[in-house]
Amino acid sequence: MTTAQSPLEPGPRPTAPHDRARPLAPGSVKPARELCSDCGLCDSRWVAYVRQACAFLHQDFEGLEVGAHGRSRDLDNDDELYFGVHQRMLTARLQAPIEGSQWTGIVSRIGVRALETGLVDAVLCVGQSPDDRFTPVPLLARTPEQVLAARVNKPTLSPNLEVLEQLPGSGIRRLLAIGVGCQIQALRAVQSTLPLDKLYVLGLPCVDNVSRAGLQTFLESASRSPATVVHYEFMQDFRIHFRHSDGHEETLPFFALDTPTLKDVFAPSCLSCFDYTNAGADLVVGYMGASFGRQWITVRNALGQELLDLVEAELETGPVISRGDRRAAVQQGIEAYDKALKLPLWLAQVVGWIVQRFGPQGLEYGRFSIDSHFTRNALWVRRHHPAMEGRHIPAFARRIISRYRLPAS
Ligand SMILES: Cc1cc2nc3c(=O)[nH]c(=O)nc-3n(C[C@H](O)[C@H](O)[C@H](O)COP(=O)(O)OP(=O)(O)OC[C@H]3O[C@@H](n4cnc5c(N)ncnc54)[C@H](O)[C@@H]3O)c2cc1C
Repeated sequence: MTTAQSPLEPGPRPTAPHDRARPLAPGSVKPARELCSDCGLCDSRWVAYVRQACAFLHQDFEGLEVGAHGRSRDLDNDDELYFGVHQRMLTARLQAPIEGSQWTGIVSRIGVRALETGLVDAVLCVGQSPDDRFTPVPLLARTPEQVLAARVNKPTLSPNLEVLEQLPGSGIRRLLAIGVGCQIQALRAVQSTLPLDKLYVLGLPCVDNVSRAGLQTFLESASRSPATVVHYEFMQDFRIHFRHSDGHEETLPFFALDTPTLKDVFAPSCLSCFDYTNAGADLVVGYMGASFGRQWITVRNALGQELLDLVEAELETGPVISRGDRRAAVQQGIEAYDKALKLPLWLAQVVGWIVQRFGPQGLEYGRFSIDSHFTRNALWVRRHHPAMEGRHIPAFARRIISRYRLPAS
C-alpha cells in the first residue's frame, strides 16, 4: 500500500541543475577556453551554471551590483565610475601588522575575527602548496590558524571555487569568501543556489595575474634572484618591490620592465578583465588608492561595514587622498606599451624618480592604474576577440577608455 503525502509535509526538494551536475574532468577544455581564469567553478558541481556565471562567457555588472548592493554604480560620479558602488573609502594599516602578510594583514585579521566571533563557520582562502609557496591551494579554513597560514598573495590564477564542492554536508552555513574579481563574479552568480544561510564577500583588487609558468618568466625577467623571491608587489611608488628569503628587499622601476617579454606573460583572462576593483564584493581591501605603505579599503554595503567592524578598532585609519594628474602619463604609456618599448635601466630610474615625486598619488594613482589597464585590455579584446568586444566591455569601462586615444587595431 502506498501512503499519500500530507499536503502539510514538505515534499522532497525539487532537484536543481547542480544536483545533477559533476565537476568537469581534470584536463578538460573549460567552456571559456583560452579566456578561462581557472576560478574553480568548473571544478565543482556548480559548473551547471557556467554559461551565466563565468566572467568571460557572460558579463552583467549592472545585475551583479544590484544583486549585491541594491543598486548599480553611478556612472556620473567619478569615484563610483572608477571604484564601484561604495558607502565609504578609507586608508588604513593594522597597528600590529601580521608578519609575513602581503601588506599589513588586514584581510587575514578580518578572517580570524570572523571565525573567533562566530560570524561565520568557515573562511574561503588560499593556502600554498607544501612544495612551492606560489602554487595556490584553496581551502575552507575552520580555524584562525588556518586563516593565518593562508596569508600573503599567491600571485597566480587560483581555483578558489573548487572548494564549493566541499560545502554540501560540511555543516558550513555561514561563509566568508575571500577572492579576486573573476572568482567573485562567478560566486555571486551561483550564490542563491549554495547551501548557505549567509555569505560575506571580502574582495581583493586584482590585475595582471599569471599562470605558475608565467610567474616564473616574470620573476626571471624582473628579479636578480628569482629563486629566492618570497613576496612581491607593484607599489604606489611606481616600483616593484621583491622581498627575498633572507629578508632583503630589491626594487625595480615599472618603467624598467622587459615589456617585449612580458607582453605575453599575463593570462588572457586578465588581459580581458575589467573588474579590477572587484565590483561584487561587500568589502574590498587593496592598496592602490592609498599613499605608499598603507592599505585602501572600500566599503560597498552594510555587510562590508560589518566585516570592517570586526577590526576597525585595531586599525590606524586615515582619509583617502588624491593628488596629481595621471592623464598625460596614461596616454604616453598606451603608446609605449603598444610599441613594446624597453627603456635602458638608467633612463627607467630617472623616469621612475620623476614620476614618484611629481606623479599621481592616492586615488589618482588608482585611476592611473585603472586607466592604463582598461585601455590596454580594450585593445587586446578588440585585436584578439573582436566578436565579443560589444558585450564584454562594461559601460563604466567604455566611458573611462573613451577619454584616451587608442592606437589603430
Ligand atoms: C593576484 C593578486 C593581484 C592583486 N593586485 C592588486 C592590485 O593591482 N591593486 C591592489 O590595490 N591590490 C591588489 N591585490 C591585493 C593586495 O595585493 C593585497 O592582497 C591586499 O591589499 C590584502 O593585503 P593583506 O596584507 O591584508 O593580505 P593578507 O592578510 O596577506 O591576506 C592575503 C589574502 O589573499 C588571499 N589570496 C592569496 N592569493 C590569492 C589568489 N591568487 N586569489 C585569491 N585570493 C588570494 C589569501 O587567501 C589571503 O587571505 C592583489 C591580490 C592578488 C591575490
